[in-house]
Amino acid sequence: MGGCCCCFPSKPRRENPMHPAAEPLIQGKPNHAPPHHQPPPVINSTDEGKGKDAIVRLKTGFERFKTNIFDKNPKLFEPLKKDQSPKYMVFACADSRVCPTLTLGLKPGEAFTVRNVASMIPAYQKTRHCSIGSAIEFAVVVLKVEYIVVIGHSRCAGIRELLSLKDKGPNAYHFIEDWVKIGMNAKNKVQRENRLLPFDDQCTVLEKEAVNVSLRNLDSYPFVKDRMSKGTLHLIGARYDFVHGSFETWKL
Ligand SMILES: [Zn+2]
Repeated sequence: MGGCCCCFPSKPRRENPMHPAAEPLIQGKPNHAPPHHQPPPVINSTDEGKGKDAIVRLKTGFERFKTNIFDKNPKLFEPLKKDQSPKYMVFACADSRVCPTLTLGLKPGEAFTVRNVASMIPAYQKTRHCSIGSAIEFAVVVLKVEYIVVIGHSRCAGIRELLSLKDKGPNAYHFIEDWVKIGMNAKNKVQRENRLLPFDDQCTVLEKEAVNVSLRNLDSYPFVKDRMSKGTLHLIGARYDFVHGSFETWKL
């Protein structure tokens, strides 16, 4: 693994040809923050209490988005009606606390995103995990993204499940154990090299090592390998820590 490069968020970003001006996504009040650091509006508990209904809550959120973002950013949204040209493909965990659009300030059209348990990418298999394979193929072959970013995170339940797996015994779930076994090589490595660490600390190490397994698995997809060999596609590993409020990146 190469050295840590914690500069991913602050690297010069590709100018969005559809929205070149550095306008804040949410308009109305003067705001001097860079657009990609501007968070979407937060629905606070008072707003949520008005609805007391799941559908009303969703509609309230959409109306706020429509009024504050969609209607006020035609330069961004008009071109997106015709096409998308995302620079990134992002893999993130389905965990409700780690939405990459929010944590990385990504704008609509900027990242083709897949979220699943523990942010895992299986090795290429024609007859299994077709949803992952088709998403990667579409992003790489059709959209021609420049970067695939795989993001792990702190206190990931999927990673804890992986580290808790026993060699024998029945599964407790229909799908979860088999899914997280994608990271089995990472689990074995972490347990072999970190025997003296407490379980929680081993989980922290595994949160990164499982990302590395997914990055290596990407190499088994022929269209990924092809574009990487041409230097037109790059892989980035990352970990978002919502306990300490940090984000690190690295390359293999
Ligand atoms: Zn997770």
